[in-house]
Amino acid sequence: MNNFQLAPYATSAQSTRGRKVFEAAPPGRSEFQRDRDRIIHSSAFRRLEYKTQVFVNHEGDLFRTRLTHSIEVAQIGRSIARRLMLNEDLVEAISLAHDLGHTPFGHAGQEALNNCMKDYGGFEHNLQSLRVVDVLEERYAAFDGLNLCFETREGILKHCSLENAAQLGDVGSRFINNQQPTLEAQIANLADEIAYNNHDVDDGLRSGLITLEQLAEVRLFSRHLSEVRELYPALAERRVIHETIRRMINTLVGDLIEQTEKNIGAQILNDANAVRNALPLVAFSEPMRALNRELKTFLHNELYRHYRVMRMSAKAHRIISELFKVFMEDRRLLPPQFLHATELTHARSVADYIAGMTDRYAIREHRRIFAVEEI
Ligand code: MG
Repeated sequence: MNNFQLAPYATSAQSTRGRKVFEAAPPGRSEFQRDRDRIIHSSAFRRLEYKTQVFVNHEGDLFRTRLTHSIEVAQIGRSIARRLMLNEDLVEAISLAHDLGHTPFGHAGQEALNNCMKDYGGFEHNLQSLRVVDVLEERYAAFDGLNLCFETREGILKHCSLENAAQLGDVGSRFINNQQPTLEAQIANLADEIAYNNHDVDDGLRSGLITLEQLAEVRLFSRHLSEVRELYPALAERRVIHETIRRMINTLVGDLIEQTEKNIGAQILNDANAVRNALPLVAFSEPMRALNRELKTFLHNELYRHYRVMRMSAKAHRIISELFKVFMEDRRLLPPQFLHATELTHARSVADYIAGMTDRYAIREHRRIFAVEEI
């Protein structure tokens, strides 16, 4: 069903390990195309529009949301997959689903919820993404969740503690056996990194929290910036930034493809299964990894730790923690579909409820519960 010839070590839809609940092969599209379509039609996917990573949704209309981020990841991942003759549809499905389990307010929200859940098994956003597609989506008559293929589910579960892996069965076994996921999952993982590093530079500059002068110390950025300024001396600043970032993405993608081809070439990979027992094969070159690390460190210190971002993070912590506490103390405040009998399942369903909230829903829900003038 793919328009392009796949490499022998690509994951082919025909040889999928299948779905939890058996379904006949879909006519007119591949198994992974069906997964992608189910993800796009899910409620969790639509909520990504109002969830953020660094900036809160209402801070500005031009900042990335988790929805536009996921689309960018899919775009970058697909171009890499196509060049490497790997399965584009699988990369697309994993990319579009990879952030479905994120809480509102990015990492601050995840940290807060994990903290609230420490006596009840914790909260991991990767695991939650899997929980969304396996359990929480309620759309189909015959099964809970989206009943996706094994390879898509495995790709969504990027990280996982050994303790949780042991409880997940087949989809968690690679963490226990120390094996790699498919090349397609490895691509989605690095496409995620390329996407967010670059769009955080763009959003950071747009917000004014970081400046071009500061970015001069980041070699990957400054190299392309000088190139653009030399070639187009009269270009307006906004376009200089876009052109620089465009070139950065191209450089990272080009390097990743080249290094991955080398890594694959150094192995004997007769089929997709051989990938599982090899080392991770999708990778940047060593020099590019160093440059990429420098960019990440810069973003960490200058953007994610900026006092204005920290203020929003502190607020996010408070909102999530207070909502969790109030729903644990008085179950009658929860919508009835989230009521569960035991303490443990109750905590998990409160976490599901909070994790499913968008930024603005969480803010409103907090106001509805704590502000006396609201009803
Ligand atoms: Mg992501």
